[in-house]
Amino acid sequence: MSNYVEELINSIAQELNNTLTVQRRHILTALIKNRDKHLSAEDIYNLVKSDYESIGIATVYRSLDLFKNNGVVSKINIDDIFKYEFIFQEKEKHHHLICKKCGAIIDVQDLLVDNLSQKLRIEKGFECFDSYVSIKGYCAKCSEDE
Ligand SMILES: [Zn+2]
Ligand SMILES: [Zn+2]
Repeated sequence: MSNYVEELINSIAQELNNTLTVQRRHILTALIKNRDKHLSAEDIYNLVKSDYESIGIATVYRSLDLFKNNGVVSKINIDDIFKYEFIFQEKEKHHHLICKKCGAIIDVQDLLVDNLSQKLRIEKGFECFDSYVSIKGYCAKCSEDE
């Protein structure tokens, strides 16, 4: 395990006030190494399984729930498939553009929706705790092919 990954996992353990089990450390390692990707629970399960065979899918689901509730990962619903990505210590929230044709998921930072939660509070009195936005359409490549 690289130092960087190990340090990150240790600060997560501190944040969670939790000595992370070996399984959870493996799950976090897979998430951190693939932090630029959006992975389903099954993808994560398969990644972990390749170097920790005794992992169970139920453990993966339970751990992802715990990580999500503590701001370590975000969970995005893409056509009813949940994808996870590592967001611990991410300074700026990012949102997603989802291509309906090729399935590409493109991260966008502070574009148009930056002050969304603030606006909702002021204009609608709505206190939002999850303001991740997914915008569906066609990516540059697919709209070119049309
Ligand atoms: Zn596309
Ligand atoms: Zn993302």
